[in-house]
Amino acid sequence: MQINISPQLQAIIRKRCQDTGHTPEEIVAIALRGYLEIDEETLFQTSTIGALVEGVYRGDLTIAELKNYGDFGLGTFNDLDGEMVVLDGQVWQLRSDGQAYPVADEVKTPFATVTFWQADWMATLAQPLNYEELQRYLDTLLPSDNIFYAIKISGQFRHVRTRTIERQDQPTRLVEAAARQPVHEFQSVQGDLIGFWTPSYMKTVNVPGYHFHFLSADRQRGGHVLDVCIERVDIGIDDTPRLRVALPETQEFLAANLTRDTQQELHQAEK
Ligand SMILES: [Zn+2]
Repeated sequence: MQINISPQLQAIIRKRCQDTGHTPEEIVAIALRGYLEIDEETLFQTSTIGALVEGVYRGDLTIAELKNYGDFGLGTFNDLDGEMVVLDGQVWQLRSDGQAYPVADEVKTPFATVTFWQADWMATLAQPLNYEELQRYLDTLLPSDNIFYAIKISGQFRHVRTRTIERQDQPTRLVEAAARQPVHEFQSVQGDLIGFWTPSYMKTVNVPGYHFHFLSADRQRGGHVLDVCIERVDIGIDDTPRLRVALPETQEFLAANLTRDTQQELHQAEK
């Protein structure tokens, strides 16, 4: 879609770009989302992390539907077929070969979390930090432990270690599937960490704490982040105080026993 914008409006957009650091595309997207009453401050997710841990790997939400609720996020695909990244409105499937693939709209997801990205504030970090140190630094940026934050970390990484779960054709628990996960190492790579902070009291709903997926800048490689060492990155943080959950109406979800405490298995599978 190509749209003509009047010189007067273009001048206002350019001024706003200077003031905010946003690109013209971002300013137009922000303005349109406001006019169209699209809620940017809501985290949308399908199913729960508790159900995924119990092995509910089939959902009924398509990628086309998911895109209506956000342009930024992460998740997985039916039968646990790799890791999902949603970035700039595009959905990528990071498969067990460590490569990234575009995803067809009719593909379904059993678990995904998205929001409309709009950084509420930015920081730049130009010192080598490992994953633990990066998380401690992020702790100092987040004003509260009690709401969701979408977090994007873009730039140069010394290394990134990821896993990408393999498609599961037999019923398994997440912890068993994750135990066989292929691990990939990327050295000296440009890219983005796409992720969220989830409050610990939400631990049956989403992954508590930080959860990131990596996508390389050339959009060719990535996975669920196990470890990183950053070199020089820009960090964007998007406060997300509202949550909307769409629970699947599949037989698998409806019949699942979701009363057990799965924290130990979740920690083992995700960290
Ligand atoms: Zn993940």
